[in-house]
Amino acid sequence: MLSIALDGPVGAGKTTIARELAKRLGFLYVDTGALYRSIGKYVLDQGGNPSLPAEVVPSLQHISIQLRYNAGRQQRVYLNGQDVSDKIRTPEVSMAASQVGSIPEVREFLLSLQRNIALQNNVVMDGRDIGTTILPNASLKIFLTASAEERAARRHRELMEKGDPSTFEQVLEDLKQRDYNDSHRAVSPLVQAPDAVLVDTTSLSLEESIDALEKLAQNTFFLRDRR
Ligand code: C5P
Repeated sequence: MLSIALDGPVGAGKTTIARELAKRLGFLYVDTGALYRSIGKYVLDQGGNPSLPAEVVPSLQHISIQLRYNAGRQQRVYLNGQDVSDKIRTPEVSMAASQVGSIPEVREFLLSLQRNIALQNNVVMDGRDIGTTILPNASLKIFLTASAEERAARRHRELMEKGDPSTFEQVLEDLKQRDYNDSHRAVSPLVQAPDAVLVDTTSLSLEESIDALEKLAQNTFFLRDRR
């Protein structure tokens, strides 16, 4: 199976770019953030504190998460049998996902689910530790980034379209907090894998970013075929 590991900070455009790249290549797009978000949502719904391992870890035994793909190969995430794909897209759940993601037991809990998908499908897998931990032998690793201000501006636009009242300053502050959490946690911090290609999308349009990644993918797989 072929796999593309796509890692990078919040708002670098990973989701949109990975989804379109997967479509062009005929691969399955796997959004691993949805897994951390589902656990964050469960803990919040139970009235727990997502930053306290003593409250999060015992709840893992009550959590079952499944990723399912519909006919259009669109990912839906099921938390204890319920489709929570839309409910996990709030700023509160984003922060809770970042907090539970720093707990080693949570990362361990989600490890085999992610690896199994890549064993059975050609994937573009989007996350924070895909190239370093989940798929260390990925066919191609990409670290996608952009300046914090540009990332916050993009995320702010998305939230406004959904009617979310957050201001740009709040979005930037949230994003910096999540960047800090993600890159300073002890287990699987967000870092560029030594063999990942760095792509900075600050001054690239969406289309240009997707084209750049498609070219990288074609070069990688084409060269491999000829070896
Ligand atoms: O990618 P997304 O914004 O949906 O991820 C939500 C949060 O989940 C991230 O801020 C990060 O803390 C966590 N996460 C992670 N590892 C992944 C994917 C997401 O720690 N592979």
